Amino acid sequence: MNDCLFCKIIAGEIPARKVYEDETVLAFYDIDPQAPVHFLVVPKEHIASAAAITAENASVVGYIFQVIARLSKEMKFESGFRVVSNIGLQGGQTVPHLHFHVLAGRDMTWPPG
Ligand code: AMP
Ligand code: ZN
Repeated sequence: MNDCLFCKIIAGEIPARKVYEDETVLAFYDIDPQAPVHFLVVPKEHIASAAAITAENASVVGYIFQVIARLSKEMKFESGFRVVSNIGLQGGQTVPHLHFHVLAGRDMTWPPG
């Protein structure tokens, strides 16, 4: 998508600190970390949010969780971690390209703000 920040990162037009990349997904560190480890995992295909998942594009979500599980082992998140996807204005989404926040390295609180 032309005007999408994360599509520009995926295209290499805006730099990012990459954690992992393959033909389907990109993981990169959040520019404003909310935990000692905070990265985002995004599909390379532009999907606006988790509210735009359909039968046609849903498989990428399972794949993203597979990547997250693998990275969590490689990065030794042995005490646990959190995966968050904000959706829409009231959900706190600021970038309209589906992404999963992966947060680790501190105790998480509940409920989230
Ligand atoms: P959300 O608010 O859930 O839509 O998440 C968007 C996230 O993208 C926020 O945590 C931002 O800090 C992060 N972010 C915005 N611009 C960049 C960037 N250029 N590189 C990395 N992360 C970014
Ligand atoms: Zn996009």
